[in-house]
Amino acid sequence: MENKKEMRTWLDDLNLSHPLVIAGPCSAETEEQVLKIAHELKDTDVNYYRAGIWKPRTRPGMFEGVGALGLKWLQKVKEETGMKTCTEVANSAHVKLALEHDVDLLWIGARSTVSPFIMQEIADALQGTDKTVLVKNPVNPDLALWLGGIERLYTAGVKNLGAIHRGFSTYEKSKYRNIPEWQLAIEFQNKFPDLPLINDPSHITGKRDMIFEVSQEALDLNFDGLMIETHHDPENAWSDAAQQVTPKALIQMMIDLKIRKTTDKEADYMNALSNLRAQIDIVDNQIIELLGKRMKAADGIGELKKSKNVAVLQSKRWNEILGKMVLEGDSKGLSEEFVLKMFKAIHQESINHQEKIING
Ligand code: PEP
Ligand code: MN
Repeated sequence: MENKKEMRTWLDDLNLSHPLVIAGPCSAETEEQVLKIAHELKDTDVNYYRAGIWKPRTRPGMFEGVGALGLKWLQKVKEETGMKTCTEVANSAHVKLALEHDVDLLWIGARSTVSPFIMQEIADALQGTDKTVLVKNPVNPDLALWLGGIERLYTAGVKNLGAIHRGFSTYEKSKYRNIPEWQLAIEFQNKFPDLPLINDPSHITGKRDMIFEVSQEALDLNFDGLMIETHHDPENAWSDAAQQVTPKALIQMMIDLKIRKTTDKEADYMNALSNLRAQIDIVDNQIIELLGKRMKAADGIGELKKSKNVAVLQSKRWNEILGKMVLEGDSKGLSEEFVLKMFKAIHQESINHQEKIING
């Protein structure tokens, strides 16, 4: 599939002077809750009101959504506030019901994007619709699977499309609920510059006090919009309580977020700059992670030397490493002086570690 300008017509037609904002609760809980939050978001910069009706939960026995009943509440939201509405669909029955109840935008959740069978079923059910459909990234960091979902919809004649970046699940300990892997989102943007890309900081962070910084990062990377879970009483929400913000906090956030200038020249410059900065941030994190791994291996050697009562400093091996790294560095445009300085610092840290182990 190639980049297609027509995919973003729905967004351009909104003629927004700010990034797109989708807000509303993780789950529709009661009619009163849905309408209360909607009224608090009315007359703000929120463009679409979201509420999950069918909730994919990792374990059974948790709140799995109010089901089709909630679609009536969304219709009331539209009647009473004039806001456009959206919800998640995960099979053909959901699609049929959502279309019958005139939901304006449908999104496909991370747990559905991973399954080509489900994606195809949804695409078939949506055949030729003029509704907007957004595809969340799959749970695992697989760009092809994400694009595959969009392709299935496009081939089924769905032209108003977009993607939602909600982070990726990981085994590694992380401050995020779902790690952002920004480089994947950047790659996605480079391949499909006209496909609207929305960031979902709620599911990336899992914590309301981190939502602002991730939203700003997304705007700096030129995302087209944000989807932020919003609840009038977040602590008591029936799902995702830790990551929802109040309407008041959301409105303040929309004031505080810096939106980048959009004059063409300026936008190109900022775009290039923030892409490069994002790449540097990613590599810096990798450097620290690798140094941590290297130090762990050095600790292992320390333990071995201790068991055999061998001296810490092995200068022959060390001189071999340095010689090799100076040559490697040269081939990457790094000066001998820099490579020597850097490796001496790394080596010193290894020696400190090993001495602690041997004397410990
Ligand atoms: C949601 O938006 O409430 C949701 C379930 O998201 P995800 O598919 O990203 O987990
Ligand atoms: Mn949620």
